[in-house]
Amino acid sequence: MKHFIKSFALWELLKGLRVTGKKLTTKKITVQYPEEKTPQSPRFRGLHALRRYPSGEERCIGCKLCEAVCPALAITIDSAEREDGTRRTTRYDIDLFKCIYCGFCEEACPVDAIVETRIFEYHFEERGTQIMRKQDLLAVGDKYEQQIAEDRMTDARYR
Ligand code: SF4
Ligand code: SF4
Repeated sequence: MKHFIKSFALWELLKGLRVTGKKLTTKKITVQYPEEKTPQSPRFRGLHALRRYPSGEERCIGCKLCEAVCPALAITIDSAEREDGTRRTTRYDIDLFKCIYCGFCEEACPVDAIVETRIFEYHFEERGTQIMRKQDLLAVGDKYEQQIAEDRMTDARYR
């Protein structure tokens, strides 16, 4: 009987309208993207980048730890010894269609070379361009080095 009366009086509808009525006068929290954006953590895992030292020398020493740890097999590295006896990569590819943005690669890197930046707004227009080559990754690193370095300063893992 109670259930019947509630159904007849549209009780559930009134309960819902009460919630709507309460929210009518409160401050709106809808973010007007892309003009407005939500705050980002310094640990945000977005587009990858390869970093350089202030001297311009690339950090990556071609140890392939990132390639080994990547659960999605998204990283492909070839390396060779240079004339000065140091080892550097001759190929460093990341397939962003395979990547699951887990961050294992940057965690594994002993020289803080491969990092994930705050960049999340990117797209691809041609087949194959989802594979970021070494020069693409270095270019992202060069462009956003200041932000990357600042994020590392505020992250207790890198102090
Ligand atoms: S973020 Fe994870 S899945 Fe993506 S390249 Fe790095 S280790 Fe691989
Ligand atoms: S990015 Fe880091 S972990 Fe990967 S090969 Fe280079 S030095 Fe090694």
